[in-house]
Amino acid sequence: MIDLHVHSTCSADGGSSIADYARRAQELGLAEVGLCEHADFDPRDRSYRYLDLARYDREIAAARGMAPQVRLRQGVEITYQANLEAEIGAWLAGKRWDYVVASVHLVDYDDGWAMVSEPSAVEAYFGRHSQRQAYLPYFEELLRAARSGLGDVLGHFDLVKRYGVAHYGRFEPASFAGEIRAVLRAAVEAGVGLEINTSGLRQAPGESYPGLTVLRWYREMGGEILTVGSDAHRVDHLADGTNQALALALAAGFTAITTFEARAPQWITIASLGLQATFLQPDGS
Ligand SMILES: [Zn+2]
Ligand SMILES: [Zn+2]
Repeated sequence: MIDLHVHSTCSADGGSSIADYARRAQELGLAEVGLCEHADFDPRDRSYRYLDLARYDREIAAARGMAPQVRLRQGVEITYQANLEAEIGAWLAGKRWDYVVASVHLVDYDDGWAMVSEPSAVEAYFGRHSQRQAYLPYFEELLRAARSGLGDVLGHFDLVKRYGVAHYGRFEPASFAGEIRAVLRAAVEAGVGLEINTSGLRQAPGESYPGLTVLRWYREMGGEILTVGSDAHRVDHLADGTNQALALALAAGFTAITTFEARAPQWITIASLGLQATFLQPDGS
């Protein structure tokens, strides 16, 4: 099993050390864990200037020595913002990442801004706006993120539903089919993949980011790059929901999932990861 979206204490909101993850991964018998620390470029962001690259290198090297059976990948999750594209590109250039996840966490709305990954700003914004007003600018920013090609995959594709479902009810991709398909088309054209981020399964939406419908559309449009990640911020959530993610990938028409080394994709057949996934339904039953 593989988990490519994990945050350690190298991220401002991480609760477990890289060494803790390595130990837990070894206990669980995981083949591969991808650290994916936050890199934020806007002072409004919690992890702004938090990531210490020397410390990240040091801690991952030590953990590799401690858990040699687990492949530890060194990734980064950038908060994509169109207005900071040049700065983000310059920061990424010349650094040796295994992979880059490009995520939209912060949306500059016409009459305010919101951190869609956090409850407070979202409660204030969503409470005063329609679903369309709240979700459309998110998907527009995600389209710019896909086109930018800055990431190897787009993080938690429809994160805006995390706190949105409490205001607007269950997220129906069909309501934003045009906008979502435009993002998927841009991703396929730019060679940018998607991830199945399983944190949504344990959060309010009760389904991954994205769910089955969007994964099917992506596959139908020729999408081939698909990673699986728990978005764990502490070891308790390591590999959470990853079996369900494999079942979803199969249901959407994928036969392999993706990992990266030095930003080059590699594919791992789902069958080789454990046949029990083929007996699971996408809803986990
Ligand atoms: Zn994120
Ligand atoms: Zn994350």
